[in-house]
Amino acid sequence: MSPQPIIVWLRNDLRVDDNEALWLAARHAEGRVVPVYCIDPRQWADGPLGFAKMGVRRAQFIRESLASLHASLVRLGAGLVVRIGHPEVVLAQLVAQVDARAVYFHDEPTTEEQAVADAVTAAMRGVGATVQSVWGATLYHIDDLPYRELEMLPEVFTNFRKDVERQARIRPPRDAPETLCALSEGVTAGEVPPLTAFNESFQLPEADPRAVMVFQGGEAAAVARLDAYIWEHDALASYKETRNGLLEVNDSTKLSPWLSAGCISPRRVWQQVQSYEQRRVQNESTYWLIFELIWRDYFRFLGAAVGARLFRLGGIRGRTEVWRQDRGMFARWCSGETGVPFIDANMRELNATGFMSNRGRQNVASFLAKTLQIDWRWGAAYFESMLLDVDPTSNWGNWQYVSGVGSDPRDRVFNVISQAKRYDAEGAYVRRWCPELAELPSEHLHEPYLLQDRALQRHGIEPGVTWPRPVVDMKTAYPKRSSSPRGRGRGRSGRARGRSR
Ligand SMILES: Cc1cc2nc3c(=O)[nH]c(=O)nc-3n(C[C@H](O)[C@H](O)[C@H](O)COP(=O)(O)OP(=O)(O)OC[C@H]3O[C@@H](n4cnc5c(N)ncnc54)[C@H](O)[C@@H]3O)c2cc1C
Repeated sequence: MSPQPIIVWLRNDLRVDDNEALWLAARHAEGRVVPVYCIDPRQWADGPLGFAKMGVRRAQFIRESLASLHASLVRLGAGLVVRIGHPEVVLAQLVAQVDARAVYFHDEPTTEEQAVADAVTAAMRGVGATVQSVWGATLYHIDDLPYRELEMLPEVFTNFRKDVERQARIRPPRDAPETLCALSEGVTAGEVPPLTAFNESFQLPEADPRAVMVFQGGEAAAVARLDAYIWEHDALASYKETRNGLLEVNDSTKLSPWLSAGCISPRRVWQQVQSYEQRRVQNESTYWLIFELIWRDYFRFLGAAVGARLFRLGGIRGRTEVWRQDRGMFARWCSGETGVPFIDANMRELNATGFMSNRGRQNVASFLAKTLQIDWRWGAAYFESMLLDVDPTSNWGNWQYVSGVGSDPRDRVFNVISQAKRYDAEGAYVRRWCPELAELPSEHLHEPYLLQDRALQRHGIEPGVTWPRPVVDMKTAYPKRSSSPRGRGRGRSGRARGRSR
């Protein structure tokens, strides 16, 4: 007699390769699995600040990823069931429909996602099915961490990194199941609902030709990107030197949207890096990509350890600063109209494409939280709505870190002007996203407000009309002495910072 099927509830693990939940279910049910993805309206609803919790570009990326996953599952013999609704309801119905004995899924570390998993667990009790949750989105497995309990996770990243590098090992990735059984009778698969199923106001904006790259959702596109970056362009060999670049597709891997949707696993990336080190070159850059993936792990484990504190104003350190809640200023930051070119260029790139470099993210976050002193959670919520690669633990963890309420014991401010001059020395990035400033000579491009109105007009800029006056007094915000490499605002240009991030 063939075993009862097992439902695999897919979440941020939209791949067949190195997918622990799928792999285990396939083994335990001899291939009789029913893979299902639920479009949960709670994840996509509008939030209190007036924008969707997660936005339209991310929704489109997920749609593409679902289509790709369905194709892969069909190749294996099954297919993907996509349903709209609360997983606790959808899965209970499906269990009854296919007479499943269990639901397997990947753990998510954050509170809302855990609450949904708890609701699913309770619902399964009601229909007589068991649940099995597995860990699977990190480089290091949670069971391999050198801590008795997660609460012992170090508060500082460097200590975590040294601990895992010395005392843990990375498990090899698992291959996709070789074959699956056809889906149970009466279960339809393959239809990916339109964007309006996520949020009825969603409409895909036109692609912006200035985008650093086109991100296509799905496992096949993820593998192609990794292959192109590492093998075809040999870009890994110089990752450490180029990763802060703002303009080029191969400045950094651009893997984040695929990693966060789970279209590729970090262990598969790690395995490819190992292979590259054996076949081509092993250097600081090859190590640095793994170093960054360990940052990703750190935020994920931190999220699991601190629970709701990841989203609290005082952060994981319980700080008590007073934050401003100035909607007008916040709106200018969101729309890229602060009058500070480097900030505005980055925010415009985010708004037009859903992507922003790590350097950009650090600067705009610091500008909002430290310079404008606006509630950092607003910034994190805006990022969550706009980013293609949104990952709650990386997003809120990094926001806390930059805002001085998180896992960085030092309270630091980025001097966004010295950062702009360092990372956009010729101004090509600002010119790409702020064409109003295109005629300004490079030496004035990052600080147009230092010029007299008449001088700006000579370069085709009407201050306060075609280009906004700065939202804050920049001379007070960044006193000249702080722009020196040793000043309080030296960003990550100093040695210690370069090493830490
Ligand atoms: C305020 C702020 C918010 C952020 N929000 C997110 C987010 O929602 N989702 C997200 O994936 N990353 C986030 N990051 C981290 C980082 O900016 C992006 O991962 C990176 O820019 C993605 O580009 P890439 O894939 O080319 O990175 P690469 O430089 O090629 O790095 C490779 C991978 O390492 C991981 N990584 C790199 N830097 C970090 C980091 N600082 N923290 C965690 N993981 C890292 C990512 O998975 C990335 O894809 C945030 C950073 C800041 C400062």
